[in-house]
Amino acid sequence: MKKLKKNKQILSSFLITCPVCGKKGFSVKQVLDDIPYFGEVLETFASCKFCGYKAHDILPLGENKYPKKQEVFVSSKKELSIRVVKSKYCSIEIPEVGLKIQPGPESESYISNIEGVIDRIIDSLKTISVVKHEKKKDIEEEISKLEKAKEGKSKITIIFRDPTGQSAIIRKVK
Ligand SMILES: [Zn+2]
Repeated sequence: MKKLKKNKQILSSFLITCPVCGKKGFSVKQVLDDIPYFGEVLETFASCKFCGYKAHDILPLGENKYPKKQEVFVSSKKELSIRVVKSKYCSIEIPEVGLKIQPGPESESYISNIEGVIDRIIDSLKTISVVKHEKKKDIEEEISKLEKAKEGKSKITIIFRDPTGQSAIIRKVK
């Protein structure tokens, strides 16, 4: 086993037939990661060298059953560094901004922090504003509220709902 970062280990790496283009160029890499205050997760990275299709998933190992509803009140920059493990079944709601993001088939699992979660939401809102011109003004307002929260200039509540209990909000224990 090859050692990566301190807590990361490559478990396996192999080549299979790509589910999208059908050529044998889909390389899959499984990495075991130990996240402080959370436990072990199995992370899978996969990509096709022919068509560029990519897949990524995170599977928590062990008995990590977290509450189905968890909230983070972002009132200052301090909260931005709170770690988040978000499964693909997790929905995100920000009442102050009027946002509700339901998990869809394209929904991704990821490990990040509150700042990263806000960045991802801003990115997806920017993509939507290109598609839905008529809603451009509303979306720009939502983006500016999120950006203010990142600067610690406005307060928002981020509600994570995961019926599978695989998502975790990790506040460091001192
Ligand atoms: Zn392919």
